[in-house]
Amino acid sequence: MLSRRGLQRIARGITAHQTPRRYLAAAALNGLKASSVEITPCTLPKTPPANADLVFGKTFTDHMLSIEWDDRNGWGTPHIKPYDKLSLDPSSVVFHYAITCFEGMKAYKDKDGKIRLFRPDMNMKRMNKSAARITLPTFDGDEFLALIKKFVKEDAKWIPNERGYSLYLRPTMIGTQESLGVGPSSRALLYCIACPVGPYYKSGFNAVKLLATTEFVRAWPKGTGEAKIGGNYAPGIKPQIMAAHEGYAQNLWLFGNHHELTEVGTMNCFVLWRNDKGETELVTPPLDGAILPGVTRDSILALAREWNEFKVSERKLTMPQIKEAVKEGRLLEMFGAGTACIVSPIKAVRYQGEDIAIPLDPKDSSAQAGPWASRFNKAIMDIQYGEVEHPWSVVVD
Ligand SMILES: *Cc1c(COP(=O)(O)O)cnc(C)c1O
Repeated sequence: MLSRRGLQRIARGITAHQTPRRYLAAAALNGLKASSVEITPCTLPKTPPANADLVFGKTFTDHMLSIEWDDRNGWGTPHIKPYDKLSLDPSSVVFHYAITCFEGMKAYKDKDGKIRLFRPDMNMKRMNKSAARITLPTFDGDEFLALIKKFVKEDAKWIPNERGYSLYLRPTMIGTQESLGVGPSSRALLYCIACPVGPYYKSGFNAVKLLATTEFVRAWPKGTGEAKIGGNYAPGIKPQIMAAHEGYAQNLWLFGNHHELTEVGTMNCFVLWRNDKGETELVTPPLDGAILPGVTRDSILALAREWNEFKVSERKLTMPQIKEAVKEGRLLEMFGAGTACIVSPIKAVRYQGEDIAIPLDPKDSSAQAGPWASRFNKAIMDIQYGEVEHPWSVVVD
């Protein structure tokens, strides 16, 4: 436990193990600086696997980006160096108290061979928020992004040049202080690794069945659900395995006595329906602290508002409301949304022992996605692969 003084120091932005004298020096802590990067090229480069052989998160590129931080000096020299194991003390706080946060983003190659990122500024902002929530150091997002661009260029040959394929980027930060004390880490490591990935759906969409989970809760208001921190994910694996054993691809995470929908596995959740006023409405749960603020979620909301073809709402929605809407033929589509798949169409939800069939495409009984899920997916992909020019797509030059 932290002493009261320790807590007061954190509240003032000083970490508990910093003496007031060190705090005076803290004003001079080094910020993250992309221009001071040192690049050590890999001497034994590997051959990337063929596109058809790619498995998510298994093969990593030749390099990694790595920057150390400590509370006396701030951010150290950034390194782009050969991909390698880390050497950490077994007492490092990350292993005991999950002082770690991460991001998930992708680099794409367009048809002209240019490298593109998709709204990377949002990942930088979110990572800083996640870091701050668990007392890891924050950083200048523009500088980290500049480093990520250099790193991606170094490993450019690993970005598959086929639509649907990309290089998944995993920025990560861990607390590396060697101590069993529960407190802010005096040292941290910020790094980024990358792996080439194939399309989530190899041959068109594949709609999934969900298990609406009532005996576990992923996140709750005033908890940490909105932060991409390691501690939020380990507890979700057991419920996911239990759902898989019953034949369901993902958990539909609910919250509260009214069984409000929150998220789908590790994706945000969207419902398109005719609401009780008869309006066609796209609904996703509001960012109340328990919902991860997805970049894909934000993009779908922005596109839907721009298209202006139906009402768009960030509001609560419950399982009984879904059940009733299906019974009355008012539910049009339901899908998950995240960087890995963009959209993941849902064809059924098991709730309180009953399989509720969710419509896909009313015009095509063999379709694996509804027309709107398909449209959002295509619009976002077209931007990611530079098929249409859009400020969300950032060219790495
Ligand atoms: C990462 C994540 C998402 C999706 O966020 P994107 O930025 O769209 O990839 C949604 N929910 C959870 C729990 C997540 O971890």
